Amino acid sequence: MSDSIYVTSPAMPPFEEYIDEIADMWETRHLTHTGPKHQALEAQLCEYLRVDNISLFANGHLALEIALDALELNGEIITTPFTFASTSQAIINKGLTTVFCDINEKNYTIDADLIESLITKNTCAILPVHVYGNICDVEKIANIARKYNLKVIYDAAHAFGITLNDIGIGSFGDISMFSFHATKVFHTVEGGALTYGDGSLTATFKQIRQFGMIGEDVLRTGTNAKMTDMHAAMGLCNLRHIDEYIAKRREIVVLYRKLLSDIEGLTFCEEQLGVKSNYAYFPIEVNADKFGITRDQLHSRLIDKNIYSRKYFYPLVSQFPVYSRKYSLDDTPVAARVARNILTLPLYPDLSLDNVHHICNVIIEAKQG
Ligand SMILES: *Cc1c(COP(=O)(O)O)cnc(C)c1O
Repeated sequence: MSDSIYVTSPAMPPFEEYIDEIADMWETRHLTHTGPKHQALEAQLCEYLRVDNISLFANGHLALEIALDALELNGEIITTPFTFASTSQAIINKGLTTVFCDINEKNYTIDADLIESLITKNTCAILPVHVYGNICDVEKIANIARKYNLKVIYDAAHAFGITLNDIGIGSFGDISMFSFHATKVFHTVEGGALTYGDGSLTATFKQIRQFGMIGEDVLRTGTNAKMTDMHAAMGLCNLRHIDEYIAKRREIVVLYRKLLSDIEGLTFCEEQLGVKSNYAYFPIEVNADKFGITRDQLHSRLIDKNIYSRKYFYPLVSQFPVYSRKYSLDDTPVAARVARNILTLPLYPDLSLDNVHHICNVIIEAKQG
């Protein structure tokens, strides 16, 4: 148990299975441009995610930029600063303005009660994040969007396979973005998808991810954001094992919750009503006054024992040097506090339960000094 324990480790399908999956590509030479692997993955994901429409992309970030592009948005987008850099970078890359809304302290998603106060005549959309796989208040957000005629794009990068009352989480809002990066619950090495209700968007997405071209004609701006068949093949293999991966994650989270409950100064998220979770992350919040040491001290104590947790998300997106002159921490006090105190613990399907015991023991010892 002296080996290092990292915060995550990509799930790998059996080697032979991937080799079997790609073998026929040496015959077909269909490596990209929506070949057979791409088409098969698209069909299987549509079913697994319980969505009406899906399009695949080279990664989640480009998928998100393409979603903003396809909806032809202009002006301000309301999002939260408690997310990965991708969310706000997509907004800014598309020439839009980021307006940061605070998060709620229960599950760190956007505080839907604060959204209306941030709406101006320039607001065009809301971009909430299902952070850590915690589900936003999709109903309240839908009502606000309807009232003010705003688009809703979910950053569902953490939310693969989650359902709310048996409805696929990618069915809410106008568009949802999923990331299939190697460290996510489901991956294609790099990759991403958009899911959406309006099937007419499929043609637009196809065009944008292929340089804006239809055949030889270039009728709009675009980029290159196609998923290759090599990557889709990895997805086909991982999808066969996804329920097994999620079941293992669940076992780990259940054990963390058991071992870390009743520790003064440590809190973690509870299961959400009606939500089938994917157990993507296990964040804990450290209240230094009650726990005895700060989040940063706990993070260091874990490193001393070769355990690598992550200050995820810290710093807040609004404090990144590229934007920090524009935004104050005082505008999002809950996000500011959570970013200061949050620590995500190691969690991946191959993490042994013995190691979970070990990690929790180190945490408890750190508290006792
Ligand atoms: C991973 C991630 C992304 C970006 O996805 P990529 O596939 O890595 O481009 C966007 N938003 C969040 C919240 C993420 O965690």
